[in-house]
Amino acid sequence: MTDVTYAITGDVAVITVDNPPVNALGQVVRQGLWDAITQFDDDANAKAAVIIGAGRLFIGGADITEFGKPPVAPFLPDVINRIAASTKPVIAAIHGTAMGGGLEVALGAHYRIATPTAKLGLPEVTLGVIPGAGGTQRMPRLVGLDAALTLMTSGKPVSGAQAQEMGFVDELSSQDLLADALTYAARLIADGAAPRAVTDLPFPGADADVLADWRQRLTKTAKGQVAPLAVLDAVVAGTEMSFDKALAEERRLFLSMLDTPQRSGLMHAFFAERAVAKVPEIKGVAPRDISHTGVIGGGTMGAGIATAMVLAGLHVTLVERDDASANRARHTIARNLASAVKRGKLSESKRASILSDALATVVGYDALSKADLVVEAVFENMEVKTEVFRELDHVCKPGAVLATNTSYLDVNQIAQATQRPGDVIGLHFFSPAHVMKLLEIVVADATAPDVTATAFALAKKLGKIGVRAGVCDGFIGNRILSQYRTAVDHMVLDGASPYAVDRALVDFGFAMGPYQVSDLAGLDIGYMTRQRKAADAHPRDRSPVFADALYHEGWLGQKTKHGYYIYDDGSPKGRPDDAVMAIVDKSRANLNLTPRDFTADEIVRRTMAAMVNEAAHVVQQGIAQRPSDVDVVFLSGYGFPRFRGGPLHYADTVGLDTILSDIREFAKTDDHFWIPAPLLERLVADGRNFSSLNR
Ligand code: NAD
Repeated sequence: MTDVTYAITGDVAVITVDNPPVNALGQVVRQGLWDAITQFDDDANAKAAVIIGAGRLFIGGADITEFGKPPVAPFLPDVINRIAASTKPVIAAIHGTAMGGGLEVALGAHYRIATPTAKLGLPEVTLGVIPGAGGTQRMPRLVGLDAALTLMTSGKPVSGAQAQEMGFVDELSSQDLLADALTYAARLIADGAAPRAVTDLPFPGADADVLADWRQRLTKTAKGQVAPLAVLDAVVAGTEMSFDKALAEERRLFLSMLDTPQRSGLMHAFFAERAVAKVPEIKGVAPRDISHTGVIGGGTMGAGIATAMVLAGLHVTLVERDDASANRARHTIARNLASAVKRGKLSESKRASILSDALATVVGYDALSKADLVVEAVFENMEVKTEVFRELDHVCKPGAVLATNTSYLDVNQIAQATQRPGDVIGLHFFSPAHVMKLLEIVVADATAPDVTATAFALAKKLGKIGVRAGVCDGFIGNRILSQYRTAVDHMVLDGASPYAVDRALVDFGFAMGPYQVSDLAGLDIGYMTRQRKAADAHPRDRSPVFADALYHEGWLGQKTKHGYYIYDDGSPKGRPDDAVMAIVDKSRANLNLTPRDFTADEIVRRTMAAMVNEAAHVVQQGIAQRPSDVDVVFLSGYGFPRFRGGPLHYADTVGLDTILSDIREFAKTDDHFWIPAPLLERLVADGRNFSSLNR
């Protein structure tokens, strides 16, 4: 099979990139493009050329199978310069997607036509690099500095229609892309249009102030990431140097980023998210059909889950305890949908039709007899939940999937409340459920494979990342999080302030620090969890008595405008509070503890060691299928910094021997909490890392 074909239609050469599944720019395609353009230049019968992609898209980007290997000629920047240097007009005809190197090929062409819905983008920063084949030099020439920087530092794609408005697509195709491209070519030939290379345009001039402003903004928003700032460096080079020199500078920056930890973390995240859907037990298993769903409970989670479902085109019957609660749930969902309209994600008419046709909020279970899948999201209480499942067993049709959104409770026990445990599964959504990407799919002992397959299909339909988890207290995420919490609470007992802990972890890259999270979730949640677990507590467990004291003060976090922080100036950030520190000090004094200092480095080391150690148990016990699944959970559900790849990739980067020796060091003063996980010890003894367990 040829990867790039050359054919003549009338007096136009049609160069087709045909490298399924995504027409990636592997070596054979790069050579094929080079040869095709050379053939076109030599072909007296061809007056213009169209480059087009076979199948469902133009060119998806670089060939990921070449990542990490030494580059082989011809190199992409040279191929693109070769296209740009053609002596006759070259048109890129874009449908589906043109991403990264794919879009850079299109920018090397002289003219661009696209379908209005095509996705065009330069997402390199999301993989820890920058466009490395002229993107940083050509895009600003076409759309101006601000628009180009926005596109390249966010990595977010735009539609063909938006690209035309921005100025890097010349024509929109109305129907058949190839036919429209040929018509466009004929028009250019008739007009005697020149081969107009993007680099013939001047690079936009830039004020020093504008560039300084961008740098300041990116330093803030990129939060420790180097790639967005390197994009800016490459663009600055464009303002100062000739195209050739700036292109060389872009290449230098690009290559300098290939071997960085951030690049490795972001690449790991990318591959981990692809691996997570590989679940051997459901290979080849058909999911059950889902169109009508039920949600039990319309509180924080139930209303969010129902919103996610109706937004994905499913019918939802939401069951509440009484009319007032049902109405409140409907109101919340309507408000969620209104904000989707505001953000341009939903039309007003669609919102209205969802509310009238696709959503029922009711009291009583009878309305669930038609449901194909029901998600229970009532109070976190085993008696309440088993009662609900007994009821569902009674009313739901045979084959309906019965799911629980429990955060911690035993899904096996919940399943046993029914006569059909094979149909029961955990679907652990994260708050806000219509926003957060993560869905832990908790497979219980008796769960049937096609129920698991249905859960993964549902995750996909909802645009979420489904991760398989086994049954245990807290599954993957909350179980590991609880050790992280314990580690930070111990540090506060021993002398760190909650504010120093938050600052250290936010500087590390977390979206929020643990005490900011407490304030957001409500201190009552943590309090209830501690109460629930109190009966099983070990005498040597150290309880965060300061957190209980805050709870008893009625300082529950953002909802009471006072938690670890005070929220009295309207800002959601809050400010530190001396009264909280007084309570912390008192708690330490009551326990006869002499506070000591903690550096930011020690705070991070202790937090990460606690997470990694618990994650090693989770992997060893098969609660997570593979280490990279743990990483996906923390990246998509807990605001772990993506450029660090997730806790277990980070552990590999630091070195498992370092993590283990930290744990042994910490154990010298607390050998109750700090007990090395057997898997961690074994990996270190064998000189292996977590990555060696990914499959
Ligand atoms: P919530 O208190 O906000 O909502 C619970 C709702 O269930 C209430 O509206 C209540 O009226 C209703 N309800 C109670 N018993 C019912 C019954 N028998 N029939 C119908 N409705 C009933 O609680 P929440 O935060 O939405 O949590 C619900 C579940 O989701 C819990 O199991 C919780 O652990 C889990 N969860 C919560 C979060 C979170 O961040 N809040 C995240 C993941 C999972």
